[in-house]
Amino acid sequence: MHSQLGSISALKHIARRQAINVRKLISGLPVQVPSFGSMTLEKDDVALAQEQLAKPETWQDEEAITTYENTFANWNGSKAAFAFMGGRVALSAAIYALDLQPGDEVIIPGYTCVVVPNAFHYAGVDVTYADIELETYGLSAESFASRISPRTKAVLIHHLFGLVCRDYEQILAIARKHQIKVIEDCAHATGARFKGANVGNAGDVAFYSSELSKVFNTIKGGMAVTNDPALEKRLQIFKDEAPLYPAHATEKLLYNVAMNYYRSKHSQRWLMGDLYWLKHHRKEVISTTAAEIDGVKPQHYNSRMPAPVARLGLNQLQKIERFNNLRTKQAKKWDMWCDQNGYTKPLVLPDSQPVWLRYPVLVAPEKKRNTTWLLRELGIQAGVWFVSHLHPKAGHIADCPNCDIAVARCINLATLV
Ligand SMILES: *Cc1c(COP(=O)(O)O)cnc(C)c1O
Repeated sequence: MHSQLGSISALKHIARRQAINVRKLISGLPVQVPSFGSMTLEKDDVALAQEQLAKPETWQDEEAITTYENTFANWNGSKAAFAFMGGRVALSAAIYALDLQPGDEVIIPGYTCVVVPNAFHYAGVDVTYADIELETYGLSAESFASRISPRTKAVLIHHLFGLVCRDYEQILAIARKHQIKVIEDCAHATGARFKGANVGNAGDVAFYSSELSKVFNTIKGGMAVTNDPALEKRLQIFKDEAPLYPAHATEKLLYNVAMNYYRSKHSQRWLMGDLYWLKHHRKEVISTTAAEIDGVKPQHYNSRMPAPVARLGLNQLQKIERFNNLRTKQAKKWDMWCDQNGYTKPLVLPDSQPVWLRYPVLVAPEKKRNTTWLLRELGIQAGVWFVSHLHPKAGHIADCPNCDIAVARCINLATLV
């Protein structure tokens, strides 16, 4: 009975989606547009996931995880890497590694994903928000300096949309002067470079994400890295104490590789995505549930990565430069589009190589509220990271005027088309 009801509501959902396709066709709008996630999934990733599903006896293999971590660390130019089931979990590992305590304060940009402040809240660490700049959407060094208090133990900087943040060196210098630890949020910037090194190696500890909308994709996943032997030891302790992601959740995740391939990447995804989803929608993995957005720590949050996910990560890592090069080529086209249409291009910091996860542009607020114009003019959808200060949680943060502007006016364009 229950599952029948589920199928009926799934059918209704698909009927609604296909009705939208028909309406688009009639209005002369494109039915299929570049996706914002899972564009790096290819047939071999799908085959790899199917192969893992057929061989659960290989899921306990610790070596697959070590190989993935060591390959990532080597490729990234870091001393050590530790794999978890989310960038947010890798951030929690970083908070543990830095020994941040309840009552300590961290300064973070007031324009980020809600899972970032959540990780600090879970640890009892007080979060102070500082403003961003509007050239790369990174933390403003000036605002950071103005928020420092005797309780400030750490600062979190991010390289949003894959851009190396404008005030990188200045922030590192201020932090060093005040003995404040630096966490780098590289969730959007895996492989971005500055002065010959990958981002994430200049601060004390960094994390990366392989969630399905990020630079590379294991549906869910994250990596913590450091170059400091003492922090490496503590990351190891955190990982040793973290439970392994449960087998039933791993199985679900593996189904999502094919599901996301058919929904986001397949050349006939307008139909194939719905068909695959209809069959397997009960296994769909949700990146952030409503409860987590409200600050509830999810079950299995602290999990370390199981072997099948590490194998997917390793396979995706082989492709990362190829896809980042494609993104960079598309970004050059968006540069031209900006020049021709009077929009300001994002800043590429001298001596930096962004990875262009997305191409951010500031537009008039009404053009962010309703983005049909992009569909009509360019045949693409607009990404709206972030629609609020702590995306996707509603609400406002005081005294961050540039964050207000980004919330009202920043859209982003797909770079894998
Ligand atoms: C996605 C994201 C994270 C968290 O990464 P997950 O792998 O989804 O946990 C952290 N920071 C930013 C800016 C993000 O966009």
